[in-house]
Amino acid sequence: MTTIIYRDSFARGNVVRETVPKDERNACAWCGQPARFRYGWDDDSGPRHSHISPKQFCSRSCERSYNEC
Ligand SMILES: [Zn+2]
Repeated sequence: MTTIIYRDSFARGNVVRETVPKDERNACAWCGQPARFRYGWDDDSGPRHSHISPKQFCSRSCERSYNEC
């Protein structure tokens, strides 16, 4: 299940967050703490389709830090 957390009208899409099922949770790819979410991109064009990264994170700030490096 994905939730829209940020609408990027300039890029015509949404940043989405998926809650990882409990038995699939790993460590946060950035800080190593228990992760709960995967983040991705949901494009406005065409049928609704989310591109979710397989990496898991504990928070949006960790996901941003990871992708800025
Ligand atoms: Zn983290």
